[in-house]
Amino acid sequence: MLSSNLGTGRFGPYGGRYVSETLVHALDELTEAAATIAGSEAFAKELSTLLAEYVGRPTPLTDARRLARALDPTGKVLGRLFLKREDLCHTGAHKINNALGQVLLATKMGKTRIIAETGAGQHGVATATACALFGIPCEVYMGAEDVARQAPNVGRMKMLGAKVIPVTAGSRTLKDAMNEALRDWVTNVATTHYCIGSAAGPHPYPELVARFQSVIGEEARRQILERTGRLPDAAVACVGGGSNAIGLFRGFLEASSVRLYGVEAAGHGVPSGKHAATLTAGRVGVLHGSKSYVLCSDGGQIEEAHSISAGLDYPGVGPEHAWLKDSGRARYLSATDDEALAAASLLARTEGIIPALETAHPFAKLDVIAQDVTAAAARPATIVLCLSGRGDKDLETYLARLAP
Ligand SMILES: *Cc1c(COP(=O)(O)O)cnc(C)c1O
Repeated sequence: MLSSNLGTGRFGPYGGRYVSETLVHALDELTEAAATIAGSEAFAKELSTLLAEYVGRPTPLTDARRLARALDPTGKVLGRLFLKREDLCHTGAHKINNALGQVLLATKMGKTRIIAETGAGQHGVATATACALFGIPCEVYMGAEDVARQAPNVGRMKMLGAKVIPVTAGSRTLKDAMNEALRDWVTNVATTHYCIGSAAGPHPYPELVARFQSVIGEEARRQILERTGRLPDAAVACVGGGSNAIGLFRGFLEASSVRLYGVEAAGHGVPSGKHAATLTAGRVGVLHGSKSYVLCSDGGQIEEAHSISAGLDYPGVGPEHAWLKDSGRARYLSATDDEALAAASLLARTEGIIPALETAHPFAKLDVIAQDVTAAAARPATIVLCLSGRGDKDLETYLARLAP
């Protein structure tokens, strides 16, 4: 599964390692282990058994006929829409693919403690789940603001046996939790693995996480070939840190006929300044050990991100997406809170699927994407969209914000 070459850690000018000297050894050790241990036949077999027997993979590819016709009654622009159902993974989203891979790798490296950062708590829950499965202690850093806002996920992590550590520094949200986790890792690196939750952070994390998530794109590619006899015209996903998107894109990167679209959170609208559209409106900078696009002020201060969906509410983005944007291989759009809410409602009523708020963002841009694709391909678009997670966690927001 993982080939032995983990690359240079650079995606064009992006990526790299902007960390203190004390972490370089740990990152080298992880890079080595990712190549030798995670690159082995035996590891691939063990992980794929876990993914099948515990996570429920392969996840289905659902033909969303009613939604496609609701968006385009003629069928001339949006031909067929296939949903890659990561919402049906154990714990309800794609994050478990990466958490299981990293925790399995950490145990093979002889690590006896796992730490993680979490914003909304989704990655914290996935990591706590994997740690419970392997019987390894887990501590999760979480901004104090988020601990208060995300009580159900805090409860889940505790029930799974993890310790949740509230972070009171800075804005008391995800970026502060990530700083705190890095600080812990510096002190405890001999015994501890830091399980990063998205395709971001210093090398080798962006590549490691992308490889653990690439199971999404590999399955989707195989499934759509079986169903339609050809590759799709486009692959679409939401982009927070970018892990579910890169996981899907990796299945199609080499096929230049497949257009790639990422959709970020525009919050109250990009002009309002209250958004999380890092690739759309950010600038090049360094955040959490890696060079990429970031949301920052003229003075270089990292700014707060804003989105109705906690999982997209991050002022950075993985470096591979920065490069895919600059090179033109992928295109990035953004959807506002209101657009995402309306799209979630339409999906629920046409297909009987309540998506995570994060996942609702790409649905909101399907009409624009289908037009773009059809203009280029000169035929009705066949699109595969990564349905990254289920919406149970967001029900309160939906009920408060959507008219009955
Ligand atoms: C965390 C999360 C995301 C955003 O993370 P990526 O790393 O960009 O994939 C998207 N969807 C769901 C359901 C999430 O929980």
